[in-house]
Amino acid sequence: MKRVYNFSAGPSCLPEEVLKECADEMLDYNGTGQSVMEMSHRSKDYKPIIEGCEKKVRKLMNVPDNYTILFLQGGASTQFAMVPMNLGVKKGKAAYVNTGIWASKAIKEAQKFVDVDVIASSEDRNFSYIPKLEKISGDYDYVYVCFNNTIKGTHFEYIPDTGDIPLVADISSCILSEPLDVTKFGILFAGAQKNLAPAGVTLVIIRNDLITGAPLKGTPTMLNYKTHADEMSMYNTPPCYAVYVMGKVLDWIEKNGGAEGMKKRNYAKAQLFYDYLDNSKFYRSTVEKGSRSIMNIPFLTKETDAEKAEAINKKFVSEAAAQGMVNLAGHRTVGGMRASIYNAMPIEGVQKLIAFMEKFAKENF
Ligand SMILES: *Cc1c(COP(=O)(O)O)cnc(C)c1O
Repeated sequence: MKRVYNFSAGPSCLPEEVLKECADEMLDYNGTGQSVMEMSHRSKDYKPIIEGCEKKVRKLMNVPDNYTILFLQGGASTQFAMVPMNLGVKKGKAAYVNTGIWASKAIKEAQKFVDVDVIASSEDRNFSYIPKLEKISGDYDYVYVCFNNTIKGTHFEYIPDTGDIPLVADISSCILSEPLDVTKFGILFAGAQKNLAPAGVTLVIIRNDLITGAPLKGTPTMLNYKTHADEMSMYNTPPCYAVYVMGKVLDWIEKNGGAEGMKKRNYAKAQLFYDYLDNSKFYRSTVEKGSRSIMNIPFLTKETDAEKAEAINKKFVSEAAAQGMVNLAGHRTVGGMRASIYNAMPIEGVQKLIAFMEKFAKENF
C-alpha cells in the first residue's frame, strides 16, 4: 500500500490511524455485527456515538454550557443562509467583513434576507491581508467574519470586538487548529471536511439565546436552528457516518495534546514553510505578514512572465504528484500553488515538500 501526502484544501487528509480504525470496524462495529453506516440513528448503538462526539467537541473547544452544539447537513454554505434567516430578525441588518471568496458568498446570500453593511474589505490588495477592525458598533443583528480564508490563505490573528452584537464566524478551515475562545462568539460553524471528518456534516456551535425559534417568516423547518437544537440534531437522519469519524478524529486530537497540541504542531509546520518561502529566491508567499493562515499556504514562483509562470506551475504540480505529493495546484483566483496543511498533515509532509521545491528550483530557474 502506498499513501501520498495530500495537500488538498478540502476534502482533505485524515489521520492515518483514524482511517485504519474505521477500516477495522467497517463490517462489525463494537460487536454489533453491523457497520455504523447501516445502523439506525435511533438505535442504542448509535446514540453514544453522536452524544460522545458532542461531548468531545465541548471538551476540546471548551464550549460553555450556555452554547448548543449541532451536527447539520448542507455544508458550511447552508450556514450562509441559516445565519441571516435566524439572526436577522430584530433589525434586519448585519455587518460583514469581506476577506475573499467565502466571505463574498456569505454576503451575497445574506443580501437575500437582510440589509448588509460591508464594514471592511481587503479587496484593494487582492484579499492578501485581514483588515484591522476597531471596536464595531451599530444597529446590527450580528457581525460576520470568515476566520480563515481557505482560498487566499489569510487568517484573523485577533477576535474582532463587537461588544454586545453577536459575532458569527465561519471556521471551516481552521477549527481546532489552535485554541479559540468560544465565549467571544455568538455562532461558530465549520464544514467538517477540512479538519474534522469526511464531507457531509457541518458543526455549529451556537449561543442558546440566539436559538429563538422565531426566524424570518417563511424559513423552512430544516433551516431553523431550534428544530435541530430541540432534537439534539436528530430531527431527521443526521450524517451518521461522518459524525462517527469526527468522534475518532477528536480522540486523535485529544491524544495529541488537544487544541494546544494542534497549535504547536501546526505552527511548527507553518513556520518551516513560511521561513522557506520568505528566504527563497524562487518562491514567494502571496499573503502579508500578520494575516497568514497556518492551514492554507498559497505561493507563487518568482517567474514574472505570465505564460512561462503558468507552464512552470503545471510542471511543479505534476512532478510533485509523481513524487507522492498531491493536490498542490493553486486556486484559479490566486494562481500558483497552494499547500493545505491541516491538523492531520504530518511535519514530514512539509519537509518533503520543501526538499522537492528546492530541487525543482535548481532544475528550473
Ligand atoms: C470549504 C469552505 C466552505 C464551503 O464549505 P461547504 O461545506 O462545501 O459548503 C465555506 N467556508 C470556508 C471558509 C471553507 O473553507
